[in-house]
Amino acid sequence: MMDTFELPASAPAVVAHGKDDLRIEDVRLKQPAADEAVVEIAYGGICGSDLHYWLHGAAGESILKDPMVLGHEVVGTVARAAADGSGPAAGTPVAVHPATPGPGAARYPADRPNLSPGCTYLGSAARRPHTDGAFLRFANLPARMLRALPPGLPLRRAAVVEPASVAWHAVSRAGDVMGRRALVVGAGPIGALAVAVLKRAGAAHITAVDMFDKPLEIAAAVGADAVVKGDDADAIAAVEADVVIESTGNRFGLASAINGAVRGGRVVMVGLLPSGPQPVAVSLAITRELELVGSFRFNDEIDQVIAALADGSLFTDPVVTHEYPLSRGLEAFDMARDPARSGKVLLDFGA
Ligand SMILES: [Zn+2]
Repeated sequence: MMDTFELPASAPAVVAHGKDDLRIEDVRLKQPAADEAVVEIAYGGICGSDLHYWLHGAAGESILKDPMVLGHEVVGTVARAAADGSGPAAGTPVAVHPATPGPGAARYPADRPNLSPGCTYLGSAARRPHTDGAFLRFANLPARMLRALPPGLPLRRAAVVEPASVAWHAVSRAGDVMGRRALVVGAGPIGALAVAVLKRAGAAHITAVDMFDKPLEIAAAVGADAVVKGDDADAIAAVEADVVIESTGNRFGLASAINGAVRGGRVVMVGLLPSGPQPVAVSLAITRELELVGSFRFNDEIDQVIAALADGSLFTDPVVTHEYPLSRGLEAFDMARDPARSGKVLLDFGA
């Protein structure tokens, strides 16, 4: 019986203790707050930020100072509904919106809470105490983060909802892409999901660029019409894309993105560049009158992604290349760090 769910004293989790120190270990479970549901996590996707905490002890400006449970790309089933009655009932399969808008007073557009100062995210060391993630068999999550999955959308397919929402937001920052030529630089999970979203949105022709064969195979499987391997500047310039999605997060990728944009085109930067100055030949953006726009996380796009996955109009299955039981979590991370061999790697918390 779901409503007699007994929270165990502890549960296995993926915990980053510091650079090169990732552990699968039992953590003590707290009783949920009144507005929190207990979610039995089914799948968790390994994200670039999770890899950064493991490999570098930091993700961008966010430096790991205390042990932190990783993970923000999770789906599962509500084991115990929030005591205050908010959110989905016990037994409901859910995806998770990992953001909590911040209390900061700085100005930002009210309809874009992803830009609110002080915004926290599951599995982020941006603040101290760190915000624990949800790579945990039983996670206490605020009920407002939970999105019920419609019938016909299995948890396994919904496991990409979070990164697909990032991609959906990035494509929406490109404006109306119907009938337009698109270029996606970097065909890792976010880039490949951007290809899938562009395809669904009616882009006329999509080219994907990557350094490796495996991501390009995935991009082609979700809708890329052409692929370019490596950083062949002439081949990229010849694309003359109306919209470009930059998802590598490095300056070489950004240079390719600018190079591949048509005069008057728009470049959406979703790959997070390292902080600090970046040497990029940006003068072309002036003489071509390019629009360079940033894209950061997402807002309510998650609801559109869930609906599009459920009705089959958004096809993402090839993006997930590997799945490991939690007990083999370290192997999973090792696979996820290698873009030549893997796309999105999932942890199976129920196995
Ligand atoms: Zn992610």
